[in-house]
Amino acid sequence: MTKLASKSVRCGSCRASSEHTVLLSTNAFGSPDLDLRPPGMERSTMDTWLQLCPKCGYCAPDLSQPPPDPAVLRSEVYRAALRAAEFPELARRFLAFAVAAGPSDPATAALAYLQAAWVCDDAGQPEQAVESRRQSAAWFRRCKPFAATSHGAVMGAILVDVLRRSGQFAEASSECQAALASPGATGVIRKVLEFQQRLIGGSDAGPHSLSECE
Ligand SMILES: [Zn+2]
Repeated sequence: MTKLASKSVRCGSCRASSEHTVLLSTNAFGSPDLDLRPPGMERSTMDTWLQLCPKCGYCAPDLSQPPPDPAVLRSEVYRAALRAAEFPELARRFLAFAVAAGPSDPATAALAYLQAAWVCDDAGQPEQAVESRRQSAAWFRRCKPFAATSHGAVMGAILVDVLRRSGQFAEASSECQAALASPGATGVIRKVLEFQQRLIGGSDAGPHSLSECE
């Protein structure tokens, strides 16, 4: 059961107050996608993951926290992400958040672009989903070399899925081989990567769930 509440939040950038829907609880029963997009009810709570200030355009998981870099909010690239009319409104929040995170936190930017792609998937906008995944892949690559741990192998496995879902099969194949060579690629991560090899071999760019690897 997803429980939501309305909350007044004072913007950490411009101090204006605005109302936001916050997530009190949800569930993720079922199997996540290969890029770890959550299943169950959690899947449809993305509109609570980032709060957007209607006055100044600051966007963050918790709007009350001050922006790490206030200057980026005034930058043309940030404003352009918020105005990107070809993207769904919710996706624009993730795009803007990714722009703000990018320089200092490439992993967060990579994930935010991927989340923008999920919104585009749901909205039936495949071109925008591909564009978001291409951005995501570029930022995941800036996180390389991935750590020789299970966390690093998960990062590699998500990158493989991002590349495959955006139709970049040659790149997906080479990243998959690299991820399989990582010491962290054991257990379920190895099964996922071997499943990805079969999907890539069949030029399958569709969504698949973790349960299909078993
Ligand atoms: Zn604000």
